Amino acid sequence: MKEVIIATKNEGKVKEFKEMLAPRGYDVKSLLDIGYTADIEETGQTFEENAIIKAETIAKETGKMVIADDSGLSVDYLGGRPGVYSARYAGEEKNDLANLQKLLQELEGVEKEDRTARFRCALALSIPGQETKTVEGAVEGFITEEPAGTNGFGYDPVFLVKDKDKTMAQLSSSEKNKISHRADALKKLSALLD
Ligand code: IMP
Repeated sequence: MKEVIIATKNEGKVKEFKEMLAPRGYDVKSLLDIGYTADIEETGQTFEENAIIKAETIAKETGKMVIADDSGLSVDYLGGRPGVYSARYAGEEKNDLANLQKLLQELEGVEKEDRTARFRCALALSIPGQETKTVEGAVEGFITEEPAGTNGFGYDPVFLVKDKDKTMAQLSSSEKNKISHRADALKKLSALLD
């Protein structure tokens, strides 16, 4: 079995990667599985740069094949913000509720057609001795005026999925995992691995 390390401590993400990669014969490990506890500083200006930083850092330290992801919300009216600052939009404590409240405040009075946004996810694949490869996935939508739904995390309650009359937080996790930015990027990565 080929071993692959996912450069995250988030078990939810590791589960999604396992579902995709185990049937392809990969033994998927998280940073927690390999006992890596240090924080990697995300100093990139784009999702892609941050994914590359994480993948290459871990690949160098372990000498193994590594996949890293970086994701966030990009709102057109705000020129793409919160973008790479999605997790710490309202402060370093990374509070989901404070982040989405700040977002709603910034969009107060903005008409629906101007509230377009997308979740984006970059994945970087680093194999020692090879050039790092990247893919990007996205899901389009609108920022609502009020939160709705209790599933998911982060900005899900204020993200109305395009062509669905529901926020991301009103979808079940299996519905979200079919259409999400991460699912889109995972599909592209999977094509790359094949
Ligand atoms: P990270 O890639 O886990 O660091 O995610 C960065 C931030 O983007 C999260 O803290 C959330 O605020 C936001 N984000 C990323 N993916 C999602 C999602 O699927 N739903 C809601 N928010 C998300």
